[in-house]
Amino acid sequence: MKEFTALYNPSDMKRQSPININTHDKSFPTVTQDEALTTKFASKVSYKNVRRPNDHAFDYELVGKDMEFKTSLSQWWFPEIDPISFTPAQFHFHKGRGAAKGENDNGSEHTVNGHHLDLEMHIVNLNLNKDTQDKFIAAVIGIVFQAGHEDNEETFADKSFKKLFHDEPVNFNEDFFQHMNMGERYVYRGSLTTPPYSEPLLWNFMPEVISISQKTLSYFGGNERVRKEFNDKGGQIQFGGANRMPKAINGRQIIKVDIDDQTTAAFENEVTYFTQEQDESLYTQKLDLLKTYLTQM
Ligand SMILES: [Zn+2]
Repeated sequence: MKEFTALYNPSDMKRQSPININTHDKSFPTVTQDEALTTKFASKVSYKNVRRPNDHAFDYELVGKDMEFKTSLSQWWFPEIDPISFTPAQFHFHKGRGAAKGENDNGSEHTVNGHHLDLEMHIVNLNLNKDTQDKFIAAVIGIVFQAGHEDNEETFADKSFKKLFHDEPVNFNEDFFQHMNMGERYVYRGSLTTPPYSEPLLWNFMPEVISISQKTLSYFGGNERVRKEFNDKGGQIQFGGANRMPKAINGRQIIKVDIDDQTTAAFENEVTYFTQEQDESLYTQKLDLLKTYLTQM
């Protein structure tokens, strides 16, 4: 952490994430169309060898061919360029312990009307096109969860996470993302929420709060099985990392997306699984960009 602080000073950066989303704010421009919207995520996920170095949490790699997250909303800020096609790369979780300010700051990074939710998931989609990387190097989809319902009322999220924790194959499209509503989201220009806090990010925050069970939530805090399996040198391994506190909006425009009938967008094309050996070059390209994006921007 120390070396990053020397290189990057987030207080000089004016488009930082997370932020608070005020759903009652009537001043947000509302967008009712996203012509280029395409959401094709992985047919398999894997967390092997992609542990995050800083906070002992895991990144889950999205594995598949022809994956795409495409949106026209990059044109809100850069109307002169084509809608950007991002390549889904990984997802991870934030379940902060509110160490900075106490119990009320537990959980998610983004807040909704001033309140944290229990858990936040980030799906990171990379822009592999060098011509537009200075505009948006990645698009991140933020999804929040709240624990509450009884353990016997499993939601799609409970089922998907259970598979993840038990090393069972998860079809990310069908088991998870198809249940999301991309027609309702808040889009803004923001940053990574971990060092080096790089700013050219297109944030897509989804305000729908997904219900999970208390049991599912407990897995993210470092459960016994995870500890036993992954514990090295006594460190506490968690499925969810820390949470950064919301930052000033500094006059940034937040776009409210409100589109009917986009509950399941563009799932007709099956994403196929490939191994690292079968497509070494794309895999290397993604890893290189992730490395750059996490250390040098
Ligand atoms: Zn994150």
